Amino acid sequence: MSLPGKFGHMSTFHFLDDIDSIDPMPILVAPHPVLKQVATNVTPDDLEAIKAALPGMFSAMYKAPGIGLAAPQVGISKRFLIMDVSEKDAPREPKILINPEIIEESKESSVHEEGCLSVPNQYAEVERPASIKLRYSDLEGKEIILEATGLLATCIQHEIDHLDGILFVDHLSTLKRNMLMRRLAKEQKRKL
Ligand SMILES: [Zn+2]
Repeated sequence: MSLPGKFGHMSTFHFLDDIDSIDPMPILVAPHPVLKQVATNVTPDDLEAIKAALPGMFSAMYKAPGIGLAAPQVGISKRFLIMDVSEKDAPREPKILINPEIIEESKESSVHEEGCLSVPNQYAEVERPASIKLRYSDLEGKEIILEATGLLATCIQHEIDHLDGILFVDHLSTLKRNMLMRRLAKEQKRKL
């Protein structure tokens, strides 16, 4: 998700000291077929490959700039995502969520303007549950329960959608979605 947390385990993220010198992984742009796939669960066998991908993923997210990036957006159809919703100029708060699962959501909903690094330069208001409860694992395999509201809740739901092959434009009316996707296609063509 592209927009503006408090999380830790800095040892996992030692590469952030040199993030500007790390090549960003290319971000897939809709309508790429991997973005429509349902990603598979992360197993312990995947962890080494995930650790290897993290520097390039964080580099891509920070460079964009974005506040969240799901693995399918860089062509990895596995259920994990990275986030950093810290304020501009505040210390970085990198976070990785493995096999995230929403276990509760509020009846009350809220509307936020969303954008997406895979749908560049297109923005629209999306209505989602205002707060959620989430279960995920960190890189050490520890299970974590997190309650989120506001921007964090929106960002998490947007990124988990990516793991299910859903883009924020899929929450819009057909008319609105077609309009955004046509505009995106036109802009992408101009870039080539
Ligand atoms: Zn996105």
